[in-house]
Amino acid sequence: MDFETRAIHEGQEADPATGAIITPIYQTSTYVQEAVGEHKGYDYSRVNNPTRTALQRCLASLESADHGIAFSSGLGAVTTVMHLVDPGQRVVLIADVYGGVYRMTSQVYEPKGYLFDYVPAAEFANLSDHLDDDTRIVWIESPSNPMLNVVDIRAAADAAHAAGAILVVDNTFATPYLQRPLELGADIVVHSTTKYLGGHSDVIGGFAATNDHTIAERLFFLQKSLGAVPGPFDCWLVLRGIKTLALRMQRHCENATAVAVWLDRRPDVEQVYYPGLPTHPGHAIAARQMRDFGGMVSFLAASPASAAEIVGRTKLFQLAESLGGVESLIEVPARMTHAATATAPFAAPPNLIRLSVGIEAAEDLIEDLEFALATVGVRA
Ligand SMILES: *Cc1c(COP(=O)(O)O)cnc(C)c1O
Repeated sequence: MDFETRAIHEGQEADPATGAIITPIYQTSTYVQEAVGEHKGYDYSRVNNPTRTALQRCLASLESADHGIAFSSGLGAVTTVMHLVDPGQRVVLIADVYGGVYRMTSQVYEPKGYLFDYVPAAEFANLSDHLDDDTRIVWIESPSNPMLNVVDIRAAADAAHAAGAILVVDNTFATPYLQRPLELGADIVVHSTTKYLGGHSDVIGGFAATNDHTIAERLFFLQKSLGAVPGPFDCWLVLRGIKTLALRMQRHCENATAVAVWLDRRPDVEQVYYPGLPTHPGHAIAARQMRDFGGMVSFLAASPASAAEIVGRTKLFQLAESLGGVESLIEVPARMTHAATATAPFAAPPNLIRLSVGIEAAEDLIEDLEFALATVGVRA
């Protein structure tokens, strides 16, 4: 079955008890056993829950994975996957990794003796030079947050494997509709389902998928042992969001392309970052490994002050953290989502504006930006 069909049906047979077409929210902590240890696969909801099972099966299928493991947040997924690493071992990350991941690696794991190296996207062509015998994981985002850098996933997987490491891809920005890293050689995919997969800015969630049996067993063990599990209602919200993922992503991509092209033509915008623009350094790779270029666009305002002014003037683009919902958002990463990277070697530029382009009418979105940029331009 095709992606769109699996997004609606996979893991979601009619409820055997009632025929309910939609997977019920199994809001229960425990399950009655017929005799000691005799149950239908469910004994306690931290370990397993039918609504979570439906989500795990559906999303695993969309990522072309045998195994899917759901978490309470994207960072819940990240911290659980990081437990595959022991102190003294090394994780090599793309330098402009999500700010919350950087906060975790630098302030939680590094003090415990884990080793982290941050490699700029432009140096990924020489990734092997950055890997040694201690390297356990190569960790990338593509496109990355917030610089929209693109990494050749197949090449990164080959380099990681040659060094005896595994490749983890945070696929939050692309979603499996646009890009399936496991098909390109990655070992684990992680997601913040808070973003496009949920799609409606009403849930926090995370996910990991893999085709490696040993890794899957370890991650299921860590899921129940560390306990960063999602509640049944949150799983249900993500399942519901996924049903329209394909349609929403098509529109996100159309609108983001329109906005990026429009921004790129403006003389008062110094630089636009969108992998769909032919001038983007990762355009050719993105065109090869993605179905389309996604809904995120970043650009440089003239100064940090004008960045702050612009994000205060848009009306449809609402000033907020997060991304991937149907409504458009605008933010200044250096002061909001990526504030934790301020003192890092690869901080987000202070005049960078990040757009999560929603699925409203593109003309309305452009008019909104036009107003904000024009009025700031006049005062500058
Ligand atoms: C938001 C985000 C995360 C963290 O997810 P939460 O659901 O907020 O915990 C991780 N990676 C990327 C790329 C993100 O955008």
